[in-house]
Amino acid sequence: MAIQKTAAIVLRRQDVRETSLALTFFTRDFGKIKGLLRGVRGSRAESWGLGALEILSCDDIVFYEPKKSDVSTVSQCDLKEFFGHIRGSLDRLAYAAYIAELLDSVTVLYDPNKDAFDLLLYSLRLMDGQSSPKRVARIFEIKLLHLLGLMPTLEFCATCGSKIGESAKFSVRHGGLICKNCLNSDPSARPMMAGTIKFIEYIRKSPFEKLERVKVAEAVGKELEIALRNFLDYHIERRLKTLDFLKEIEK
Ligand SMILES: [Zn+2]
Repeated sequence: MAIQKTAAIVLRRQDVRETSLALTFFTRDFGKIKGLLRGVRGSRAESWGLGALEILSCDDIVFYEPKKSDVSTVSQCDLKEFFGHIRGSLDRLAYAAYIAELLDSVTVLYDPNKDAFDLLLYSLRLMDGQSSPKRVARIFEIKLLHLLGLMPTLEFCATCGSKIGESAKFSVRHGGLICKNCLNSDPSARPMMAGTIKFIEYIRKSPFEKLERVKVAEAVGKELEIALRNFLDYHIERRLKTLDFLKEIEK
């Protein structure tokens, strides 16, 4: 068994028996891993750092890579960032839990993706500051789709490849805008404002650090939220639990 060390963010936690804990981490160097931590409750519990085992915490972990199973044994877990401001606000916590669950739902175990790790870490840092967590969630969704190669086609018709004109509509099924000649192929396609298309392109092309202060008109924000939700739901097989919670707090 090879021993490994990496930075990791806790995506999910589950109690196992009386003293152990199963944590799903997204790590900087190994992608998503499932880790088993023994002795985290009970007499040895204090040797584990406070806060390190909570969802969303960013830690330095040491683990043994499994040969046969897909569960790694985590022997050390030291807290680096706790994101206390997120935890102090129901609103921020709901959006942060949502982006963690979203990343979890679109990734498989042991498939390294440094950019995805950084995207999650930077997004959590923004949510932990003064940025609107809702806006950060939209940025996260667009950047994530781009990273996964699922970005909707917006420059050319997703069906025939011709240039997009004014009457183009957004088709979830075809994965982007479709031109007026192709509208028959998807009656559920919806109009999309030029401002929304521009915003998505801007987010996709800009480095994350430049997006902290990005502004979005209310109408664009609303349209974007619906379009991305429909698009993500179409591509993700499982229903995200955090979405129900988000709906509750947005009422
Ligand atoms: Zn077309």
